[in-house]
Amino acid sequence: MDDVGKNLNRLLDQKNFRTRFEEMMQEVLQDQDVRNFLDANKERLTQQDIERSYAKLYEFVQEKRKFEVNDPSMIAPGYEPQLTLNYHSVDVTYIPTEELLARKKQEEIRGRIQALNMPKDIQEARIETYEMTSGRGEALMAATEFIRAYKQNSKTFHKGLYLVGSFGVGKTYLLGAIARDLAEAGFTSTLLHFPSFAVEMKQAIGKNQVSEKMEAIKKAPILMLDDIGADSMSSWIRDEVFGVILQYRMQEQLPTFFTSNFSMLELEQHLTVTQRGEEEPLKAKRIMERVRYLTKEIQMAGRNRRNS
Ligand code: ADP
Ligand code: MG
Repeated sequence: MDDVGKNLNRLLDQKNFRTRFEEMMQEVLQDQDVRNFLDANKERLTQQDIERSYAKLYEFVQEKRKFEVNDPSMIAPGYEPQLTLNYHSVDVTYIPTEELLARKKQEEIRGRIQALNMPKDIQEARIETYEMTSGRGEALMAATEFIRAYKQNSKTFHKGLYLVGSFGVGKTYLLGAIARDLAEAGFTSTLLHFPSFAVEMKQAIGKNQVSEKMEAIKKAPILMLDDIGADSMSSWIRDEVFGVILQYRMQEQLPTFFTSNFSMLELEQHLTVTQRGEEEPLKAKRIMERVRYLTKEIQMAGRNRRNS
């Protein structure tokens, strides 16, 4: 009796299943896209081919519905399902949407701006929208000129900018805008808040990570060091970190940028006196020679744009 019951149940289940399946397929075959597709390929697909493709047709209709309402459970988010002919059967391919391609492109661009300890808002910075005031005109023009020259030939040496100006005048923001413009053209920049980097380097000594961290920074295709001279530098940071990075970039002719509250002359003074109060004018001079070789000094003036 048990056996009969089981078998009967199974039979009913199968029957239920079959009707459910048929209902489902009727619905699928009524889908306008499916109809258009089958119609367009009626010479290439026999009734048998179509029946063998039911699973794919079903998948298509399911995924299309999810796609239309942006259901997160869809197989390939951001990809639109499309019916294709694969020899004598139907297949579903997933085509990336314009939206997805645009988003991927933006991600790639952002990935080319490597910012370490930099303010978040530099991501919004753009040369096109950089507000031009008389005090910043020269810097903006020099930035535009660098970008033009570098895009034209990235293999030859181009002097970067040494942006001087008081707090909040837009120096860091301009670096961000330059990096963005170059990123859109496929070039990678590394932006570094130098005082924070100096602290990290001191901590790296104990962990034996100094050379590893130095390698990545000094070899960056485009390097932008922000806020040079904001903190007093120890002789070790000045000579073994800052000096070594500059030396390498000079040798390899790699574009480098700085921002500072100090003019080059003031920076030389700042680098002359060590944290311990000793005067080392020759060492400071050597550093400044490299800075001058690598960059052109440009004054920026204007109101403090922070918190306004
Ligand atoms: P600095 O590095 O010279 O101290 P920032 O570059 O940090 O100054 O700029 C200060 C503030 O002003 C930032 O919040 C930045 O977003 C804003 N800012 C600077 N320049 C512009 C600009 N051209 N357009 C819009 N906002 C700007
Ligand atoms: Mg700044």
